[in-house]
Order: sequence, then C-alpha cells, then structure tokens
Amino acid sequence: MREFAYDRAVDVVGALALLDADPDARFLGGGTNLVDLMKTGVERPARLVDVRDLPLDDIAVTADGGLRIGATVTNSDLAAHPEVRRRYPALAQAVLAGASGQLRNMATVGGNLLQRTRCGYFTDVTKPCNKRVPGSGCPAIEGEHHNHAILGASAHCVATHPSDMGVALTAFDAVVSYETADGPGELLLADFYLPVGDTPHRETTLPPGALITGVTLPPAEVAAHSRYRKVRERASYAFAIGSLAAALDVRDGVVHEARLAFGAVASRPWRAATAERVLTGASADAETFAAAADAELAAAKPLPHNGYKVTLMRNLVVAVLTELAEEAAR
Ligand SMILES: Cc1cc2nc3c(=O)[nH]c(=O)nc-3n(C[C@H](O)[C@H](O)[C@H](O)COP(=O)(O)OP(=O)(O)OC[C@H]3O[C@@H](n4cnc5c(N)ncnc54)[C@H](O)[C@@H]3O)c2cc1C
Ligand code: SF4
Repeated sequence: MREFAYDRAVDVVGALALLDADPDARFLGGGTNLVDLMKTGVERPARLVDVRDLPLDDIAVTADGGLRIGATVTNSDLAAHPEVRRRYPALAQAVLAGASGQLRNMATVGGNLLQRTRCGYFTDVTKPCNKRVPGSGCPAIEGEHHNHAILGASAHCVATHPSDMGVALTAFDAVVSYETADGPGELLLADFYLPVGDTPHRETTLPPGALITGVTLPPAEVAAHSRYRKVRERASYAFAIGSLAAALDVRDGVVHEARLAFGAVASRPWRAATAERVLTGASADAETFAAAADAELAAAKPLPHNGYKVTLMRNLVVAVLTELAEEAAR
C-alpha cells in the first residue's frame, strides 16, 4: 500500500483547498470502499482529505416538502430517520439491505454514490480491465460475468454499479449537490452517472475535485407507497444480483403514477422509464405489470452466463408491484 498523508477538513472551503493543493488527493468518507481499494492497489492516493467533520451530516425537510440529506450522513442514520422511513420507505429499505451494521455506521451518502464496481477483474490489479487501465481490455465479457450488466453495457465494460441506496434515489428523482473551487452545482442523479461507451474509466459527470455536499429528494406523494426488494446470493451482507425500487399510486384500480428503478443490472442505477410509461394509466394488475417489465427488458443484452437476470427482474417487478397494488386496494 502506498504511503499517504491524512487531513481532516472542518469546512467545505478548507476541504476543497486541501484537495486542490495535491493532484493526487482524494476525499475520504467512511473509507469502506476507498480504503479497501487502496489496500489492493486499485486506488493509490497520496493524500486523503477526511470529510466526516464537515457540517454536512443533517437531514432536513425542505420548504416544498422534500428532503435534503447531507453528504456525510451515515447510511445508518439515513435508514433510521423517521421522515425517510415515512416519506421514502424504499430508500430506508435499500440502505438497510446494503452491507452490514458496522459498515453502515461508517459509510456516508456521498461515498455510497461514488463506490466503485465489484467486478472481480477491476479489483484484481494482476488482470486487465478497461475501467482500471483504459485500453487494457475487458476479460469479463469472455470470462466470469454471472453478476454483470444486462442493460446499457458496451463492448468495453459490462460491470454493474453496486449501490442499493442509489437505486431508490434514482426512482425518486434525487438531485446531487456539489461544491467546487468555482462554486456550487447540481446534477440530477439520472445525469450523474455517465453511459459506459468506450470510456468506462469515466464514471460520473462530477467536475474534477468536486465535493458532494448533499442529495435532495423532491416531494413525491407516490414515494410513500414504495418498496425496495433485493435479490442476493446470501441472505445478508451481500451485493445484489438484481434489485428493484418501486412506488405505485393506484386510484380506482388504475395506475395513476409509477416509479421504478433497477439495481445490479447496469453500470448505474437504471431508471425503468419505459416500464413506467406502460404502467401509467393502465389497469393495476399482474398482466400490466408483466407487460411493463417486458417492455423495459426488451433492451436487455444478456451475456452467456447472466441471462437469468432478465427473468429475475421480470419476476421482481411483477411481485413487488402486485404487493403495492394489493396494499393500495385495502
Ligand atoms: C463487505 C462490504 C459489503 C457491502 N455491501 C454493500 C451492499 O450490499 N450495498 C451497497 O450499496 N453497498 C455495499 N457496500 C459498499 C458500501 O456501502 C460503500 O463502501 C459505502 O457506501 C461507501 O461509503 P464511504 O463513505 O465509506 O465511502 P469511501 O470509501 O470513503 O469513498 C468512496 C468514494 O467516494 C469518494 N467520496 C466520499 N465522500 C465524498 C464526497 N462527499 N464528495 C466527493 N467524493 C467523495 C471517495 O473519494 C471515494 O472515491 C459494501 C461494502 C463492503 C466493504
Ligand atoms: S466489466 Fe468493466 S470493470 Fe469488469 S473487467 Fe470489464 S472493463 Fe473491467
């Protein structure tokens, strides 16, 4: 492991200045991903700028009835917050479905969004990997890819994004706020992650050196009727092989509004906009739910060993939407 310097920033301006002063510096949240990657040599920063003392650890209701979540709020605090549980239950469920209690106590909102893929070739520095070493190749395409992408991948990378939290935030149209030396900025989470294309090493549209300061959830009545369901190979402490954040507003048996986002199927949390269009205005029954899933998954391009994800996601959509529709009918 490369030797590195450590600084603890106490204000946003200071954090940005520390990062700016060293081209090899990186922000440190809970360290639950970055430090692991440093140990294996995937990441080799010369300096870590710890952001956990910044005044960004608050969750507050916004004037319009949404929620503003600070970037250093821990996953545990986010999942336990009463307003999150009441207004955006799928978000609390998604966070609780991730990692372990100890990790959630350390991991932060900003770090969760920027965690790197769990592709085994990416984390093994003895292997080629276009994401880690641009132009070196993608062994996953011919090799081990049973948990890789079925949507939005390219011939250059088929990795998935591992975040559970990001899937729920995507369904609820979250907006990421950041600060740079040139001033603040905002990005819709839908525009935050770059398509893979031929540059899988470029993952987000965040400007270089930007500090994520928070995430804002706009108000959404439908979000109160939401659920996160995660399928994994172990009952706990495992990443998803497929997951779904879904919200459904049913009136007189008809879908008034639907929100759907898929996890573990693409390089980013996947907003299922095609499925939402099929659902809106249609009868809230299993036939509609299956048609919506099929419409979204028509774009899937599975690899030889991950075709099961198409069936898995279809079944997840039908099961979770059926549950939400039954609850609405009670
Ligand atoms: C065993 C294990 C199991 C896990 N299981 C799951 C799971 O099932 N689901 C899931 O979603 N996650 C899971 N995780 C991942 C975990 O949730 C992430 O490691 C964590 O959310 C990252 O947050 P962090 O604050 O520790 O980030 P760090 O490791 O500190 O940082 C991650 C990245 O974000 C950058 N960064 C951090 N904060 C900021 C900021 N404010 N502004 C700009 N950049 C910033 C860092 O520079 C770094 O590049 C697991 C992790 C482990 C180790
Ligand atoms: S899927 Fe992406 S991360 Fe994995 S080996 Fe290929 S290029 Fe690297």
